Formats: sequence, C-alpha cells, structure tokens
Amino acid sequence: MAAIESVHAEVLSNNALVNVIVTVRDSDGGEGVGEAWWGIADSQLAAGRTASPIVGVVNDLLAPRLLGRDASLIERLWYELWDWGYRYADQGIFQMGLSGVDLALWDLFGKRAGLPVAALLGGPILEELPAYASFPPLRSGDRLLAETNRALEAGFTAVKLHELDPAYTELLRSEFGDDLIIMVDVNGHFDPLEAIQLGHRLAELNVLWFEEPVRPMRDHRAIARVGAAIGCDLAGGENEHTLDDFDRLLSAGALSYLQPEITKIGGLTPARRVSALAELHNVALCPHNFRLGPALAASIQWGFTSSASRWMELPWVPEGTAFSFPAGLPALHSGSVRPIEAPGLGTEEWM
Ligand SMILES: [Mg+2]
Repeated sequence: MAAIESVHAEVLSNNALVNVIVTVRDSDGGEGVGEAWWGIADSQLAAGRTASPIVGVVNDLLAPRLLGRDASLIERLWYELWDWGYRYADQGIFQMGLSGVDLALWDLFGKRAGLPVAALLGGPILEELPAYASFPPLRSGDRLLAETNRALEAGFTAVKLHELDPAYTELLRSEFGDDLIIMVDVNGHFDPLEAIQLGHRLAELNVLWFEEPVRPMRDHRAIARVGAAIGCDLAGGENEHTLDDFDRLLSAGALSYLQPEITKIGGLTPARRVSALAELHNVALCPHNFRLGPALAASIQWGFTSSASRWMELPWVPEGTAFSFPAGLPALHSGSVRPIEAPGLGTEEWM
C-alpha cells in the first residue's frame, strides 16, 4: 500500500487568472496533481485572495484526514470525506476543495497504473470530441473580431461569447456567416422577462445555445419558463454541486446542454454518476471549464467516457493575458480534441 504522506493546496496567482493546485504525495514517491475551483475574480481584492477559503478546506479540513491512508482507495476516501464534511453542507467551498483532492488522487492512481484516467474509467467511448473557444468578456467589437479570427486560425469552428449585448453576436454573425457556431453565456445576468426578450433575439441569430439565462442562476423554474418561451436551446449547470441538484435541474426539463464543473461537483468520482444522469435524461453533456491545467485535463478525461458527451469547453486566452498554470491548449483536429494519452490526468501532455 502506498500511504498518503502529504496533501497540499496552493494558489498560483497571475492577476485574476488564478489556479488552485492540489498536490498529493505518497510513501512510494508518487505525486498526483489536481485542481480545485479558483474563486471569483475581484479587482478589489488581491489576486488569489478569493481562492483562500478553498485552499483552507484542503489544507486545514481534508489533508489531516488523509495522511497515512491508502491513496488507491479513491471511492472510499471520497465517501468518508463527503460524509464527514456534510455538516459544512454538500454545496460550495467544501465540495470545491474535495474536488481538488479527488482529482489529485485520480492523477496519482493513473500515473501509478501508467494509464490515462479515461482508461481507468472504462476507456474513451468517442474518437474525438468537438471543442469550442470560450472567450472571456471582451466588451469590444474590435477585440471580439480579432480574437475570433485568432480562434479560427487556431482551428476552432465554434466560439462562446460572454457578452450581454446581442449586438456582439450580431456582429459575429454578419462578419463570419452561418458557418461559425456561436454560443452565448450571460452568467445569470437577467431576470426571466429580460432573458426571454434576449432569447428571442439570440434564436434569430441562430446561436447553438443560450447559457445561464437568469438570475439567480439556480432558479430551475425560471430557467424552464425561459426555455419554454424561446426558440433557442438552453445550457447550464456549472453552479450545481450534488447529484440531487442535477436530478432536479434535469427534471425541470429546461436544459438541452448540461455543463457540470469538475472542480465544483467533488471531482471525477461523483462525475461518473452525473454522466449517468445526463444519459438517463438524454441531454448533451458538455463539461464546463475555464482553466488551463489539471481541471481541463480532468474534464477531457471525463468527457471521453460518456455517450452523452457533445462539446468540450476550452478557455480562450486573449492576446496580452495568461493563465497562472504553465500549460497550453490541447491540439485540435478539425475543431475537435482527442483522448489524452499521457498517464493520470495527463496535464503534462500540454506543458
Ligand atoms: Mg458559463
């Protein structure tokens, strides 16, 4: 048995583009690297500050309970931590910290086995998975056109905008025509009436999906109301945590595209059960991700193991910005990614 010798989370900080990296080391000299959710970007707080509560979950709550334990018993460790931490709630920062630990344990397990994590989960079910470039909010027509051109040159066929004004979508549609696949994400900015109004406009502009249309983002009934009123498919789910959340969201019948975030749901261990729910409800599974590094690698490993998978979100890095983790994007093949071949999460493949 390889016993866990250390568990440590640290913030890699590069302005707002923080990564929360979790490293687990075992008694045989093995090392697994995972990632927890990164916190909310806030220009009024020092970079990395909003991630510190999540780091505390890993270092102060979870790490002491893992030392000396068998690193390969991932399901058992996950259940014990989840059960012990339940009084912190099954939502929020506890689950974000737990996600980072779980991903690090899977990385360690895969490296020990010499196999990519997808192989340990039964092997890739798909040869390729379409990917889209997820732009951060740009709020400028010129920048949007320039970054779309860069994304097309990089091999993407689909882009996602985080713009509230449909004029930006209109600009891309008129500039690049109907061949460009466009998604629009408003991060729950609107009330249901405003969201319906915008949804009609986005349907006319032939967007593939309208993401997180209403505030609060987890108002499942309001999401269903918007979905029923507009001729445009909805996407969401990045702010849900538990299996029960996903079951209620999908039972509301509003979504066509489900976007669980691997660093919020507790990692790859529960992700397999979320896959089963997506398959049961027959919606498209599209893992949410906005980081380069272990979270992206884990999302891809996971995405290749469900028959419901349809799209992979790849964070787009606009000119003049950089993520904190020293990794690039996976290679694209006609706009799609292929399974990762490196062992563990395989983050090293792009470093
Ligand atoms: Mg989103």
